[in-house]
Amino acid sequence: MMNFYAEILTIGDEILFGQTLDTNSHFICDRLTEIGVRVLRKTTVGDTEADILSAIKDANDRADIIIITGGLGPTNDDLTKPCLAKYFDCPIEINEKALQEVSAYFERRGREFTELNRRQAELPTACEMLSNPVGTAPGMWFEKEGKVLASLPGVPHEMKYLIENEVLDRIKDRFELPIIYHKIIRTCGIGESYLADKIRDWEDALPGHFKLAYLPTLGEVKLRLTATGTSLKKLKLEGNLLMTELSQIAGKYIYGYDDESLESVVGELLVKKDLTIATAESCTGGHLAHSFTSVPGSSRYFRGSVIAYHNDIKKEQLDVPAEILEKHGAVSEETVTLMAENVRQKLGADIGVATSGIAGPEGGTKEKPVGLVWIAYSDKNGTEAKKILFLKDRMFNIQYGSKAVLTNLFRKLTKKD
Ligand code: ATP
Repeated sequence: MMNFYAEILTIGDEILFGQTLDTNSHFICDRLTEIGVRVLRKTTVGDTEADILSAIKDANDRADIIIITGGLGPTNDDLTKPCLAKYFDCPIEINEKALQEVSAYFERRGREFTELNRRQAELPTACEMLSNPVGTAPGMWFEKEGKVLASLPGVPHEMKYLIENEVLDRIKDRFELPIIYHKIIRTCGIGESYLADKIRDWEDALPGHFKLAYLPTLGEVKLRLTATGTSLKKLKLEGNLLMTELSQIAGKYIYGYDDESLESVVGELLVKKDLTIATAESCTGGHLAHSFTSVPGSSRYFRGSVIAYHNDIKKEQLDVPAEILEKHGAVSEETVTLMAENVRQKLGADIGVATSGIAGPEGGTKEKPVGLVWIAYSDKNGTEAKKILFLKDRMFNIQYGSKAVLTNLFRKLTKKD
């Protein structure tokens, strides 16, 4: 089986100046890998003809597929088209199909079609035009001596549209790619090294054509299982068997697969069990409520939230007695327990969850350092609080605090604690 290689070239001074984060290449790498293309290298160059041309030539020496983003606008600093015309040794002319599509784009929006806009329809004659109904710069597809080059707009949603709708299928038609099997296994409540220890024997025994990658993200570890072969059906059967073995070893930590999120999995569990939930948040300041409400359909189970940031609100809205706050403090087992219990009752939910902690960077003491977060879970059977120490920066503590509540909920709802 042959391997085919790609390089990605992102163009724009703004990326080199640090004003724009190059998210385009991240997306393209992901999609190419998914269809079995090996990405060799990604390069960024500024808006300079010599740099663009030499980057294209270098990439062409190494790769079968080159994907370029950026520099397709109609202004003089957008140099990708003239560079490609030079590289493929052809003139730039109005492309009639592009002209129709670009003018229709402006007409649909009731915007004036200016001479500058007309220049968007000028393309190097050696290319095949790639329709871009979500923007004004058409993409371009070139083929030469067995290699292909796609040039796409820099605007991320336009680039994504063209990759998904025009580029990937052309690559699949043009190259005989290996069959790739991908599975993402999502875990929570266990750190990367502990997980690696736990599943070491399973990992060591993986068949040679399967590879495992650990992808830790905020409060979660994703495992990516990849395999190449000649039959997707066979790879899926092997993958399913491996996954069954894995869930026997680490099932307690696996909350979902592929694109599932912890908040959506927790939401589905709440719906399945016909339960509702309310949150009382101090240090997470609404982040937890945001996690819940970012899931479509969350109104079926999410009752609401009290952001009890100030102690007055903890007293007035959540009935936490002043004596408790004075004796134990806001960041304490006693306070967070009452917050969870009382929000559940006050908002008429089956489950109440609460957070109270020291997000930082200021406000820590020896007894209660920055990163100390108390979380609590309350239902009709009682209330439990847990102390967690993150010791990270403010945003991390807030995000980890929310994730810890969701992880705890997942455990409770699946009885995996
Ligand atoms: P258009 O003609 O539609 O403006 P263009 O190809 O000329 O597209 P650029 O002018 O290079 O694109 O960039 C347009 C916008 O897209 C910029 O504001 C920039 O922030 C964003 N962008 C460009 N390249 C990237 C990249 N590699 N990753 C993320 N965003 C990018």
